[in-house]
Amino acid sequence: MIREDRIKSNFIRLAHFDSETFHEKEIGKFLTEKLKDLGLEVRTDTTNEEFLKKHPDSHPNIYGFLKGNTKSESILFSSHMDTVAPGKNKKVIIDESGSIHSKGDTVLGADDISGITAILEALNVIKEEKLLHPDIEVLITSSEEAFCEGSKFLKEEILKSKKAYVLDLSGPIGRAAVSAPAIISFEIEVEGLAAHAGFEPEKGINALNIAVSALAKIPTGKVEADTTVNVGTIEGGTGKNIVPEKIRLTGEVRSLQTEKSNRKVEEIEEIFKAEALKAGGKIKITKTEHIKAFRRKETDAVVHSFLRACQKTRIHSQLITTFGGSDANRLNEWGIQTIVSACGMEDVHTTREHSHVNEIKKAAELVLKLMTVQEVKND
Ligand SMILES: [Zn+2]
Repeated sequence: MIREDRIKSNFIRLAHFDSETFHEKEIGKFLTEKLKDLGLEVRTDTTNEEFLKKHPDSHPNIYGFLKGNTKSESILFSSHMDTVAPGKNKKVIIDESGSIHSKGDTVLGADDISGITAILEALNVIKEEKLLHPDIEVLITSSEEAFCEGSKFLKEEILKSKKAYVLDLSGPIGRAAVSAPAIISFEIEVEGLAAHAGFEPEKGINALNIAVSALAKIPTGKVEADTTVNVGTIEGGTGKNIVPEKIRLTGEVRSLQTEKSNRKVEEIEEIFKAEALKAGGKIKITKTEHIKAFRRKETDAVVHSFLRACQKTRIHSQLITTFGGSDANRLNEWGIQTIVSACGMEDVHTTREHSHVNEIKKAAELVLKLMTVQEVKND
């Protein structure tokens, strides 16, 4: 059945690639061949050209299809092939206890290599043991770490499943996020007027003062139970003796309600506008809605099947709300019921990132069960 040696060697092989966001060309080629070897029909004509023109070192999203031999409905499994930085020259260390970590100078890449490894292992077992399964779709996206940029350019019409599992979550196997936020980022440019700070400061309009007084009126952090606000960067000014003319700020809003995240960004815009107006300056704001929020119910088939698969594999299940975005947001937006499943990654996005062979094994067992579990009608 599930083979630990294969899990280890696949994990190490995948981590060997330098696959930071927008640089997934090599790992993408490798995964394309890997899925073909497992008997899947693989397509890489899945991504609008615009994306590859913008990011020539990236790889199209990879779509694999394994024809089923039962009548159950098609299911989609997804993970992403990019890692955050620092992700070059990753060395995988697996100690005797099975714990997996990097040398400490890069991320490990378990986010999301663990997810891919679990999917590959389940497909291997299905092939070897000739198990019964419905049509299985596999989607390995690129550039997920940049607010799901890769899936944004996916030609969504190629997907036919009505339910999907994205393997891309920290925590014990059996944990699944059934609710996740909308994410909107913004960039604000405050424009004042430069003047000599000593000779005639009164002729200037201080953009930094405008920004500071606006910021003082904007609560940040968890501003409501379902909403967070962050202003992450501020830069500008040209000299110690010059009244600052331009200040740029960037930030983001997350909310479990898409509408609310839009309203919050509008509130921020209004505050900046009012402060600029008072001082005689102006502002320009650019807003980008990266993903929309989703919430799946326990009665949804995708959740129901997940809980059943956990039960059958004796894995403790836990349904949570996350404040992280993933490709699940995109898939839900396209009308595919999707949840995000834990797959063996801890302390992600840090050089302390680690995983454990047993956890990836459990993730593979769970994926295998989800791929092969026989559906009860009206599930
Ligand atoms: Zn991830």
